[in-house]
This record gives sequence, C-alpha cells and structure tokens, in this order.
Amino acid sequence: MKYTYLPKQDPEVFAMVGGEARREMEGLELIPSENYVSKAVLEALGTLFTNKYAEGTPGRRYYGGQTFTDQVESLAIERAKALFGADHANVQPLSGAAANLIAFSSWMDVGDTVLAMDLSHGGHLTHGAPVTFAAKAFRFIRYGMKDISTGVIDYGQLEAMAMEHRPKIILAGFSAYPRELDYDRFLLIAQKVGAMAMADMAHVAGLIAAGSLANPLKHGFHVMTTTTHKTLRGPRGAMILSRGKVGNPLKAPERTLENLPTLIDRAVFPGLQGGPHMHQIAAIAVALKEAGTPEFKAYGQQVVKNAKAMAARLKHHGCQLVTGGTDNHLILLNAVASFNKNGAELQDLLESAGITTNKNAIPDDTLPPFRPSGLRLGTPAATSRGMKEPQMEQIADWIAALGRGEAGPEKIRDDVRTLCLKFPSPSGLAEPV
Ligand SMILES: *Cc1c(COP(=O)(O)O)cnc(C)c1O
Repeated sequence: MKYTYLPKQDPEVFAMVGGEARREMEGLELIPSENYVSKAVLEALGTLFTNKYAEGTPGRRYYGGQTFTDQVESLAIERAKALFGADHANVQPLSGAAANLIAFSSWMDVGDTVLAMDLSHGGHLTHGAPVTFAAKAFRFIRYGMKDISTGVIDYGQLEAMAMEHRPKIILAGFSAYPRELDYDRFLLIAQKVGAMAMADMAHVAGLIAAGSLANPLKHGFHVMTTTTHKTLRGPRGAMILSRGKVGNPLKAPERTLENLPTLIDRAVFPGLQGGPHMHQIAAIAVALKEAGTPEFKAYGQQVVKNAKAMAARLKHHGCQLVTGGTDNHLILLNAVASFNKNGAELQDLLESAGITTNKNAIPDDTLPPFRPSGLRLGTPAATSRGMKEPQMEQIADWIAALGRGEAGPEKIRDDVRTLCLKFPSPSGLAEPV
C-alpha cells in the first residue's frame, strides 16, 4: 500500500504501520486464526464509509443519507447468503464475540442453558468460559471428546446431557479442535430436545465456503455465526447466518425458529449494538466476492492439504499431536510430550526464530492456561502466501529442530526470512509515495 498523507501528518503512527508490515512480510504466521487480506479488501476498509451512521437494516434506517450504505450492505448480505446457502445474513456484528452474544440473546432469556464444547477440548472462550459476561447471564454445560486419540466427540454423552438439562441452544464450534463434526448427529439431538442448533464456524468459514469442510446450514442447522477475518480472509468482523423467514425488524416477533432472521436483526440493533461499521461491511462484501471464486476454492483445499502435510512431517519427527492429526487447518501439538517444553516455552522459542504460534491448552490439561501443555499451529496465512506441501515440511523440520535443541533460533530466523520473502504477503508493505 502507498500512503500519501499519513507519513507527513503522523509519522509516529506511520512508523508503527511500517513496522507491522515488515513483521508480517518477513515472519512466518502460523496462528490458525490469522490471515492476510487482499489489497482490494484493505482499500475497501480504508474508505469513507467509516464516516456514516447506518443504524437499522438496508431500507429501514434511523438516519437519512443511506443510498450507498444500503447498496453496499445489501450486496454483502446477498453474497453471504449465496456463499453459505443461508436464508438470511446479518453482517453487522463487530466481532465474533459480539456475534455469539447476539445469537445467544436472540433466542434465550437470562438464566437459560447452552450445551457447548468443553474449552480444553477445543471450545472457544465465548462459549461460556467462567470469566465471560455470557457465563454470568446464561448457564453453560459441556460436552467433549469421547476418545482424545481420535478426536471423536462423545455424542452419547451429548445426547444424555441434552435430555437431562433441556438446553435452549446446542452449540457446535471450536477454536482448537482439528477434526470435522457430525452435524447430522448434533441436529438430531437438538430436534429431540427442542433446542436451537447453532454452529460457531469462526475458524473454518473459509474452508466451508471453499467446500473443503461440511456446511452446518446445509445439514439443517438453524444459526451459524462466523468471524470474517480468519480462514474467510476478510477484514476483522463477523456475520450471523440463519434459516427462516425475514420479517419486519421494527416489530418484535414470537420466538420461533421461523422468525430467527428477525429475532437476530433485532438482537443486533437495538439489542446489543449501535451503528454498524460500514467501511468494515464494504470490505466484507469484497472478501465475500473473493471467497466465491475458483481461486478461493483452490486456496481452501490447499489450506487443508498443507495442514495434513505439516502434521505428517511433525509425526515423522516423533511429535505428539492431539487426536493424532488434522482434518482442517489446525494442528494441536502436545509440546510437553513432544519436546519436554510447555506451550509458552515453545511459543517463545519459535518466536525468536521468526515463527509466530500460540500456546494452547490440550484436553483436560493439568498445566495452567498461561503455560499450558500445547501449542496451536495453522496453515491459513502461509497458504495465502502461496506456500505448499514442500514448504510445510520444511517448516515442520524447523519446528522439530528448534524443539529438540538441534538448531539455534538465529540461524533458523534467517532461513525463515528468506522463505517468507520468496512468498510475499498478499497484503503488501506500507510505503510512502
Ligand atoms: C475467534 C473466535 C471467536 C471470537 O472472534 P473475535 O472476532 O475475536 O471476537 C468466537 N468463536 C470462535 C470459535 C472463534 O474461533
């Protein structure tokens, strides 16, 4: 990106933008929730749509002057619906955490119950971690894996808990689970107890759009939340997709599955948010167009191939992977069992070699969250740079060599930088004109 005004007007901030651009260009990003937006997405994000208030939905706004905000939001909505086969899309949630709280509040009263994945088995913080406000407002009960060596969910336990506790929502979704879910089983159990089936696909929406993973909505799920900035490769933001009939958001509807689209629109505004971020929505529209192309389909497939290649190579080096491997974009490495280092130590070691990862709990971890036993690795960002299986194997070799203390971080840091410069980040650098 070329910048004309920022370098002159605020050289301090410009220097920081430049520092981050160089960090992204020269370093290897293996955090599975991160990615690089295209330059077109970046340009849309920097537009003057940021100036406009647009509370309400297209055609039903509280302020005037909405000709172009209506157009751009309608375009984003239509693209989201087409991409995921949804009856309705709300593209206004400011982030994934907001989207989940909005979805909960659209369907539940304070004190109601959610059945969600155990956090150490891969569930996300927003699925009711005790430190969240959601955990104070709602009651969370948990299912997990039946067999950690294969990653299969304990659907028998899930059903028994659903029968006993009668949750209002059964939530499928994760941020540290490397396997595919059986959405038909989830839906059957939800139907049996009259719960809403909700999927939080924040991590894997791009892989679903590309057709590399199953789409919960196509399996009959009622609601799907997702971020837009992870595998979907858009700007930071989120969406709530649903089935049902779109009604007038100005009238409070009955709480039925059919009315979910209206319940969700009202839970976004005025329920939990004020004005939507229209520049973010414009950039989401651009990202959704990109996600509908054959190139993106190939990208989604390569992300999974790359993760499998990296996992296989790590195992070849004797590393212990939770569930034994991966079906998606992420790998959960048991750092203690692999290298006799905790996740925080391994994260720091890799960072000193220019490889960014994040420490993560493993199922039923006995170590505390700040120095857990695991390390999470992912391929979405590296794949966006055009890296393929040979590079993934090279990266796995570096991780193993560092973990075992066979190579120093300084030497590997140079190799990492050389590799990264051969595969430039699609977001580009920040340079003055
Ligand atoms: C990342 C993530 C979120 C939260 O998204 P933010 O944009 O960080 O608020 C929610 N759910 C899951 C499963 C996630 O992976």
